[in-house]
Amino acid sequence: MSAKKTIVLAEVKNGELRNVSFEAIAAAKQLSNGGELVGVVAGESVQSLAGELFAYGVDRVIAVEDAQLKHYTTDAYKQAYLQVFDKEKPEVVVLGHTSIGKDVSPRLAVKLDAALISDVIALEGDEAPIMIRPIYSGKAFEKKQPAAEDGALIVTIRPNNIVAGEKDESATGEVEVMSVDITDLRAVVKEVVQKATGGVDLSEANVIVAGGRGVKSADGFKPLQELADVLGAAVGASRGACDAEYCDYSLQIGQTGKVVTPDLYFAIGLSGAIQHLAGMSNSKVIVAINKDPEAPIFEIADYGIVGDLFDIVPLLTEELKAVLV
Ligand code: FAD
Repeated sequence: MSAKKTIVLAEVKNGELRNVSFEAIAAAKQLSNGGELVGVVAGESVQSLAGELFAYGVDRVIAVEDAQLKHYTTDAYKQAYLQVFDKEKPEVVVLGHTSIGKDVSPRLAVKLDAALISDVIALEGDEAPIMIRPIYSGKAFEKKQPAAEDGALIVTIRPNNIVAGEKDESATGEVEVMSVDITDLRAVVKEVVQKATGGVDLSEANVIVAGGRGVKSADGFKPLQELADVLGAAVGASRGACDAEYCDYSLQIGQTGKVVTPDLYFAIGLSGAIQHLAGMSNSKVIVAINKDPEAPIFEIADYGIVGDLFDIVPLLTEELKAVLV
């Protein structure tokens, strides 16, 4: 495969680059086959973020600065990215399979007449790498390798799966500040009000403590929150717990909730329905706590504890506190 000019669309959250941007650079390196790697960061006052993109290996950075890009909107970002593509003519574009990536990537693919391979979790090989993506809610994996005649390619990568490269703080490069022409916006975000959850962001957490209907009430989540606090973990939930109004739907993990891949996942008082597994079965280590030894979650758990969660979770928290705090 010849060298390919590759653009990485970095994602900014609360004024910082999201980790998935660095993972996208690692994927882009493999896909570019030695071609130029251009990082694109869009927003308001974002050029200061260029240094981190260089540290993870891009050759050049384009900072698209515009007050209308302060908050993500489909129209504004699509217009901005297309103007960058028009100027740069990338052969490959890589971005995160996040809410934003899922929203904007198909629109960019249509406009560029590009192939789109979404939700990639691994790349195999250096020359013309094969991309692996889960299908049927993670029950099977599909391997994709675009043909040379397919033209431009857009790839979205699932957060927390592809390992970012080593950070080199000394790396630098050229930063170009680009202005774009954004018109006819159908929606404008005036303000973003953060939910006062205060905790660790579920989609980027390395450790997740998830509860199900077995926690029995909103108060039943308290021991799970205490365990999460000791571990620096995020709290998640099954849909069973959300439907029962024990917690907010923003915590739901699964087919119709968030897809997560932490290093460590505690599945507590949840049965392990296939729709829940679709959102967490790629976690590196799964610990299940359930009073039913036949609960399906034990089939995919690396460690299982059979018993009442209200006995086990506080004990576990005490033991971990003694070691970690
Ligand atoms: P249950 O299945 O009721 O399991 C509760 C578990 O807690 C049981 O295993 C029980 O043994 C255990 N337990 C009870 N008391 C204790 C105790 N004191 N100590 C220890 N263990 C205890 N679900 C999701 O999670 N995410 C999704 O995204 C999702 N999407 C869906 C999409 C569709 C189209 C459909 C049809 C369903 C979807 N579901 C989803 C729902 C899913 O099918 C299950 O109904 C749901 O996951 C069950 O939640 P649960 O495991 O908490 O509850």
